[in-house]
Amino acid sequence: MMKNKDDLKMIPCGSPTCKELMPELRLIKFGYKVCVKCSTVKAKRGVPVMFGSKDHTWTDLVVMEDNEYKAFKERENNKFGGFDKLSD
Ligand SMILES: [Zn+2]
Repeated sequence: MMKNKDDLKMIPCGSPTCKELMPELRLIKFGYKVCVKCSTVKAKRGVPVMFGSKDHTWTDLVVMEDNEYKAFKERENNKFGGFDKLSD
């Protein structure tokens, strides 16, 4: 028998700009602090970023919020005049 409606307590979404409610289970079982809407819209982006200078360079994956990612891309575009490899 399926029973999954036992205690589906709703808690506020963890995003300060969001007024949605989400099932508490989402936080307890999966560790998501924000509702589905927020986690979909504001997915984190992993961006390969090159560090160092000419002789010593390495690439590291930097995880950013979506808005940080956009700001980053804009900045990189201004700095290097194009960053083709990162387009998705
Ligand atoms: Zn939300």
